[in-house]
Amino acid sequence: MGQAHQKEALDVMASRGISISASLSCFFNHSISLLDTVIINLSNINENQEFIGEFLKEYGIPLWNCTYIIDDGIEQTYFVPLYNGQTSLEITSLWFFHVSEGKIIYAPFRRDDSSIAGHEQCFVFDLLSYLVFGEENSSGLVFGEKSSLSRSYLITLYECTPVCVSSESGGEYWYEDCVYRNYWVDETWNWITVNPGTGGGGVIDGGGSNGGGNSSGNDYTSTFATQIFQNNNFSENSWEIVDKLLDEIQEICIGATLFNQIKEKLDGEKIGFQFVVSDGSGYVHSNRTLNLDVDQINSNALLHEMMHLYQTLTETEFSYESSLMNRELEARYAQYVYLQNKSYLARAPYECSEWNIMASINDYIDDKGHLREGSDNDSFAAFLEYQIIPIYHSTDTYENYTYDLSQSGTSSFSNIQVLTQNCD
Ligand SMILES: [Zn+2]
Repeated sequence: MGQAHQKEALDVMASRGISISASLSCFFNHSISLLDTVIINLSNINENQEFIGEFLKEYGIPLWNCTYIIDDGIEQTYFVPLYNGQTSLEITSLWFFHVSEGKIIYAPFRRDDSSIAGHEQCFVFDLLSYLVFGEENSSGLVFGEKSSLSRSYLITLYECTPVCVSSESGGEYWYEDCVYRNYWVDETWNWITVNPGTGGGGVIDGGGSNGGGNSSGNDYTSTFATQIFQNNNFSENSWEIVDKLLDEIQEICIGATLFNQIKEKLDGEKIGFQFVVSDGSGYVHSNRTLNLDVDQINSNALLHEMMHLYQTLTETEFSYESSLMNRELEARYAQYVYLQNKSYLARAPYECSEWNIMASINDYIDDKGHLREGSDNDSFAAFLEYQIIPIYHSTDTYENYTYDLSQSGTSSFSNIQVLTQNCD
């Protein structure tokens, strides 16, 4: 991917030109061994049914040695620049590959495809132009190592082991040891259905980082997400992400009950689900849509919004809207209950101050939302009203959230009481 590869690719182009007859024989030439599995599979496909002639005319020649690679050791994503000789210093097509669990999903894309033009994904074409042509690329953009990773189109899911550390002064904070996995979540990209006829796109079994292949011949099918959520534009990859989060949520009793209760109450109806970019996560009652911010793709954030969804299913719109602060507190306490029982969780940007607030509530009530021995509801209600609620009301986000005093003390946690009644 470095300078050497750029130069090599340019030399190759210079020596063979872009003539199709010359390119056919070296179509699969490459010197990055990580790409072997993908290329062996593609050339097998080509032997069964020749497609590279058509592909060259349509898209150009793949510059394998300038491939932009994202590899977390478990999954690999490749962006292979396709050079057609018509645009001198610009890459306008790419071949996308995603290798995961013995499966390669792949498709060619053009910069002016309707799913690309005007979207964030344009960025990757600029990046590839830079990798191939260096600072001479016609966009004039120069990329450092970090800029490519900080874009929101590519989502990094962290799987973390949380360690809560207590300090002498009594505060607690999270230390997390994380491994990360990369995903592509833009729902406008449904690469499996792109160009099914050309041979340049599809799904191959037999990929995988260890090259061993895998006997599973089935495409991914959603197990949980589509039972309660819908989004007609979602790719399998997007559903897979939601499923992983729901999987995690259901490892914990309160989460499993929450999912099942929502499913039961919806009785076949579906709630809209979408990923939003820097808009903040939220459950929007008015259009029955759950938004998960791409910066918060973790089970903890999803659980919070699912609590709100559940709350709207158990009470009237009026009662929900007139007790938003109570409901917010309950959703946050549900997170606390969830996280306490979690040994392995998606990255939770759960701040110490927030954790300490919930821990102080946990001094009065247990993990099922019931008063602890020795606590009484009046002092708990006063504690919430005078010490906890003002903290939230002093923030911009929650200053206008109504705190319903008639739901004093433990009655603000009634949904948690129901959800955990059969938990240990
Ligand atoms: Zn909330």
